[in-house]
Amino acid sequence: MEEIVLEGITIPVVKKKMKNMYIRVKPPEGEVKLTAPIGVSDDDIREFALSKIAWIKKQQERCKKVSVQAEGEYVTGENCYLWGKKYILDVQDTDYGSRVFLWGENVVLRIGHGSTREEREQVLNDWYRREMRRALPGVLKKCEKIVGVRAKEWRIKNMRTRWGTCNIPEQRIWLNLKLAKKPPECLEYVVVHELVHLLEREHNGVFYGYMDKFYPGWREVKVRLNETSKEG
Ligand SMILES: [Zn+2]
Repeated sequence: MEEIVLEGITIPVVKKKMKNMYIRVKPPEGEVKLTAPIGVSDDDIREFALSKIAWIKKQQERCKKVSVQAEGEYVTGENCYLWGKKYILDVQDTDYGSRVFLWGENVVLRIGHGSTREEREQVLNDWYRREMRRALPGVLKKCEKIVGVRAKEWRIKNMRTRWGTCNIPEQRIWLNLKLAKKPPECLEYVVVHELVHLLEREHNGVFYGYMDKFYPGWREVKVRLNETSKEG
């Protein structure tokens, strides 16, 4: 059986070496695909799809309804950004541990059935934090060399209003994990900005003189960092 049609919905069937059947509804178009183990009978496949038909319709409705601009509920169809590139969020149920990964144009979030908005946000933020940890060593190496100073400690935090902060006496810099949503140059700009605070506390002429010297394009990058929505 290559596809089944149920209540007007065409569902391609793919057989694979696996244990369980599952159905995916893929945003943004709401295409449905059923994957089944090689030995499963056509009747079982049809029965399984039929048992999921209400869920399939609900997912398709959701794909249609979620506007391109909607963000912050962490549901299928929402925009989801990584390093300045736009992806579409695809929330999938799983019985195993939560995970996040890129799949083509999608950010796939696998999480237990009936997850709350807060739980989905938490899992995604953990993923952004890992992305930041992965990118940071290279960026630090480059920026510390340019500015000629080093911080004693770096932390990645979920901050509501700031992209970065610098505790000058402690020489400790905190970066917002949401920088992983922005183009990579935004992280560089914020790192240089916070490092320059180790040379000059205030946002004064001296400070901006350093910025112009160490990161000549910083003004445009700052605009890009703040012009898009808070989440994007
Ligand atoms: Zn500052």
